[in-house]
Amino acid sequence: MTIFSPRSLPEALQAINEHPGARLLAGGTDTMVEINFRHFEPTDVISLRHVHELKIFEDQANGYRIGSAIPYREFENGSYVHASRALSEASRTVGSPQIRAAGTIGGNLGTCSPAGDTLPVLSALDAQVELSSINGVRTLSIHDFMLGVKRNARNANEIITAIHIPKVDGYQGYAKVGVRNAMVISIASACLVHDISNKRVAIALGAVGPTIIRCRESEVWLSENVDLSMQSSLSTEVLQEFAHRVSAEARPITDHRSTAEYRTHAVGVLAQRLLKRAML
Ligand SMILES: Cc1cc2nc3c(=O)[nH]c(=O)nc-3n(C[C@H](O)[C@H](O)[C@H](O)COP(=O)(O)OP(=O)(O)OC[C@H]3O[C@@H](n4cnc5c(N)ncnc54)[C@H](O)[C@@H]3O)c2cc1C
Repeated sequence: MTIFSPRSLPEALQAINEHPGARLLAGGTDTMVEINFRHFEPTDVISLRHVHELKIFEDQANGYRIGSAIPYREFENGSYVHASRALSEASRTVGSPQIRAAGTIGGNLGTCSPAGDTLPVLSALDAQVELSSINGVRTLSIHDFMLGVKRNARNANEIITAIHIPKVDGYQGYAKVGVRNAMVISIASACLVHDISNKRVAIALGAVGPTIIRCRESEVWLSENVDLSMQSSLSTEVLQEFAHRVSAEARPITDHRSTAEYRTHAVGVLAQRLLKRAML
């Protein structure tokens, strides 16, 4: 195995361009598991550890530009905890402190598992994924980036350089269900964002479909039945109907972690809980 260790973004882009089949390595918390279990034996690996451009966080006028190789620790309770409450809540649920010190959002996007904890957050925030190659930079909507189970729209010569999220005026929260309280991959997850200025609620689900599901029909129903220009307490009927509609949009399967029936029920409960918190 040949390991490349570029010292800058131009060097990294040159390396991936010359070796488009190479495995990019950020925190290594997914890749090293695959290599250790011999599920995958790359011939070329490009380490992103010393590419400082990927660790830059920018507070911009309307949002944040988050370098793809910033570890979860910084969002959990570190320097960038203020960027997004939902991203902080999701980051706190990832693995253990060791995993959160190494693992990155860029890696979560790279793996693109439907159970990736930051992905429902990025979906509900309508994040933009910035991809760079020696030919330039392009920005893709998160909805166009995630294609399916562990499949994304990155080209072989591209590196995910950053994620752009907006500043939102209103509640945002993330919740997940697993088989225990910590060190657990989601069996169902949800992120809800209440954008008061634009009078809308966005809700995205994880681990209940081949990729993250945005519940567009439930969002429309809510906007037609609730005044979303402010926080207002909701009736039990509205909360239950919202839960029911969100569950109906899930497309779960039964696997070694859970059953489709339980997942369908769980996302409804999570949606209802998050909406209640948003309106408190
Ligand atoms: C014990 C354990 C517990 C875990 N718990 C959770 C959990 O609770 N929730 C969760 O979501 N995940 C969990 N994971 C999975 C993993 O930690 C996350 O997916 C993490 O975000 C991966 O980030 P990384 O930087 O370590 O990625 P890496 O392993 O370095 O890379 C993962 C993939 O992304 C690609 N990649 C990385 N960076 C880039 C980039 N900048 N541009 C393009 N492609 C890139 C790599 O080529 C590779 O295909 C766990 C893993 C372990 C080992």
